[in-house]
Amino acid sequence: MIENISNLPPWIFSLIGLAFGLMVGSFANVCISRLPKKQSVAFPASHCPKCNKPIHVMDNIPLISYLLLKGQCRNCKEKISIIYPAIELVTGLLMAAVFYRFGFSVECLIFAIVVPALVIITVIDIEHQIIPDIITLPGIPFGLVAGSYMNGMFDSFMGLLLGGGMFWLLAEGYYRLRGAMGMGGGDIKYIAAAGALVGWVQVLFIIFVGALAGGIFGGIGMGVKKLDFLSKIPFGPFLALATLISIFFGGPIIDWYMSLMAPKPL
Ligand SMILES: [Zn+2]
Repeated sequence: MIENISNLPPWIFSLIGLAFGLMVGSFANVCISRLPKKQSVAFPASHCPKCNKPIHVMDNIPLISYLLLKGQCRNCKEKISIIYPAIELVTGLLMAAVFYRFGFSVECLIFAIVVPALVIITVIDIEHQIIPDIITLPGIPFGLVAGSYMNGMFDSFMGLLLGGGMFWLLAEGYYRLRGAMGMGGGDIKYIAAAGALVGWVQVLFIIFVGALAGGIFGGIGMGVKKLDFLSKIPFGPFLALATLISIFFGGPIIDWYMSLMAPKPL
């Protein structure tokens, strides 16, 4: 059985990833709406937010049910937000990419857990400006175990200390200077967990890319809507995006960068 799965062509394996990811995306929607309210993600079963009628299993098939029901609750015809199928689709596609990139491996299992968590963090941080402890706190020991497996225990601990330490210093410094919180505690716990997972070089990469993306977006936002950059824009989505880039392309990008730094033969 395991032999058969590991021998599947990559595109079939990623189709399995897509189907699995769509289902995980459906669960991600439950997490996104319930975790900020500190509600259980297991009970009760999904129900319509308007009429409270439980959603039948057949009406809860990722993407397909939304299309069949034309985006409405079967009972009260309340419009269902396009965000729900969009999150299912994004999670499905990302999972297909994980399955394609990592094949049948422990890494695939690790990132099949990490990637949906990144989707959940992104949406919750946009909607509520928090990164829930219930994801980041277990994320730290998870990151240490998974990171130690992939990159060695030293690299994993260094990633945790460097990431968490840099953000803690930044938050502390900003607080002393401005008397207000620029960066939330959620960001510190997030980058500590991410650092443990990816190691010390890649956590620097995540911080750099996240700050760059956040800076560009924030600059545009300030220009267009006069946003107060540090207080209004959550950093989590940019960190999550940077983490995704690190997972898929971080290794080759760092290798390329190091090759530019290396002394050139004359
Ligand atoms: Zn309803």
